[in-house]
Amino acid sequence: MNKISVTSDNIFPIIKKFLYSNQEIFLRELVSNAIDAIVKLKTLIKLENLYDIIDDFKVKIIIDEINKTLHILDNGIGMTKEEVDKYINQIAFSGAEEFIKKYKNISRTDSYSNIIGHFGLGFYSSFMVAKKVMILTQSYKKNASSIFWSCEGDPNFIMKEIEKRDRGTEIILYLNDEERKEFLEYDRILKLLQKYCKFMPITISLSSKSKEDKEIVINNINPAWTKNPLQLNDKNYLDFYHELYPNQLEDPLFWIHLNIDHPFHLTGILYFPKIGKKIDIQKDKIHLYQNQVYITDNLEGIVPDFLGLLRGVIDSKNIPLNVSRSHLQFDTSVKNISKYITRKVADKLDFMFRKNREDFQKIWKNFRIIVEYGMVSTQNFFDKAIKFFVFSTIDKNYFTLEEFREKIKETQKNKEGKIVFLYSSDQNKQYSSIKEAIDRSYEVLIFDSPLSVHLIQKLELSYQDLCFVRVDSDHIDKLINFKEKEKPHSELSEKEKQNLKNLIQHSIIEKFKFSIQLEDLSKKDYPFLIIIPEFLRRIKEMDSTMEKEIVEKDQYYQLIVNTNHILMKKILTETSEEKRKKMIQEALNLTLLSKDLLHGKDFTDFISKKLKDLIQK
Ligand code: ADP
Repeated sequence: MNKISVTSDNIFPIIKKFLYSNQEIFLRELVSNAIDAIVKLKTLIKLENLYDIIDDFKVKIIIDEINKTLHILDNGIGMTKEEVDKYINQIAFSGAEEFIKKYKNISRTDSYSNIIGHFGLGFYSSFMVAKKVMILTQSYKKNASSIFWSCEGDPNFIMKEIEKRDRGTEIILYLNDEERKEFLEYDRILKLLQKYCKFMPITISLSSKSKEDKEIVINNINPAWTKNPLQLNDKNYLDFYHELYPNQLEDPLFWIHLNIDHPFHLTGILYFPKIGKKIDIQKDKIHLYQNQVYITDNLEGIVPDFLGLLRGVIDSKNIPLNVSRSHLQFDTSVKNISKYITRKVADKLDFMFRKNREDFQKIWKNFRIIVEYGMVSTQNFFDKAIKFFVFSTIDKNYFTLEEFREKIKETQKNKEGKIVFLYSSDQNKQYSSIKEAIDRSYEVLIFDSPLSVHLIQKLELSYQDLCFVRVDSDHIDKLINFKEKEKPHSELSEKEKQNLKNLIQHSIIEKFKFSIQLEDLSKKDYPFLIIIPEFLRRIKEMDSTMEKEIVEKDQYYQLIVNTNHILMKKILTETSEEKRKKMIQEALNLTLLSKDLLHGKDFTDFISKKLKDLIQK
């Protein structure tokens, strides 16, 4: 028996201590090694003209429930005695040393599983699950002998020559430990292979000794992203999408095929799913691969967050995995990859917009939020996206920012001379305010996603000549084209106004905490108007936690009292306090109704009629 000479601590405590969290990756590591062994041999065949090696290259996984062993076989390059000694007995240990030096910088436990292979510890991860591991191997070199190696998870190992076997390597894991029995279950292994090896480049089969006849192939060796885009049609892309996400029933909207060799290598396909207005935590995320080996679906720190709303595959060996996620953002190739993907996504959308704007607008609402997210969070993306971001109006017309600015620049200005982009976040609730605006031939945009307020803020910062105001944030004539001189004259004296304010305050105070503001509006306007001033609402929307803690909800609202409405005279002259209260209350109820309910023309008529009744009483 030989003894492994270990320079620092031995490798097994490391394996157990740091890699315990994600044991299942042992299978990915062993299968990757088997694949590598075949890929290496295929390269050698070409380089050394070894054309006598004709084979059906394949990796086989066999479960032997009776002997409680798991076998990983390949017909690849194999190892000579010297190679086993070098790669298994020695290299692994220098890898372990390096690992010990570096692990201090790694804070996230799940990172360990990704880096293990990168420290040459891949093979040793088998000791996370197996008490004993055996290697049986025959090098492709004809005069090399077959080698047997065995180790039981301590520094002792056995290595000897054995009777000649077929070319390739067999790894045998002894899983007789009660805790590790799961890795003898057919379904468990099948699931693991489907997770990690589904698109590996050499055929992989799974069989079980107890199900002798059933050997199934678990991978697709030529996934769509590795192919030339010119060879693929729409159906190929859709089929691949469903192969990647078998539980996803809906087709994606469109996709982008990524393919670059310099200055870094990256391939992949990104799909835009239909997501509407909600940003949900996604189940089906983008998968990161390296040379067709699944690594992770956590792309935090690698691509900008907004791209996390997309689906698909990115395959790049230029993303270092042996640094912590927080260090990744400083890595030059990661930075370049992130920029490249962002640019590709923007270019694709820009292309679609220019090529066929009608089609683009038809599906726009399904992915608008992804674009909004990108615009508020990533400046490079904003700069490109502003050219194809389409604003939609209440009457379903679409404009780019420039087009819309051009259309309204003469007609919609505020008193500071800024161009006013009027918008609504809820067509039903803001119906009456929208109607007021439409009556004056103003254009009203729809901004109804949860990111609207952030995007608006960003747009106002970028374009100082514009301002966005929600259509119900004040009386329309104060929002647009407000002119001091044109103010309608006041029907009430200052004293009457003060009086009126007191009376109304008195009548509503128990019910609402609105602040009251008197205004000389037109006789034709409603007696009351309930608004949330733009700046207050934005504060509230930007920080939804504040609402409960600091400001009570009603305090956002302002009750605007139209002093010129005929009802106000009635309120002032009414002598019975009870009747007066009732009058105010009814008018207020109508205002609330007109604000919060679903409306149409009928409803507006209904309110007007009710108001008349109230005044005639
Ligand atoms: P890594 O794969 O990162 O180099 P491993 O510990 O997994 O680290 O493997 C160490 C080395 O052992 C490999 O680089 C390879 O040379 C050799 N090896 C492992 N498995 C096989 C195999 N199935 N066939 C041939 N060589 C192998």
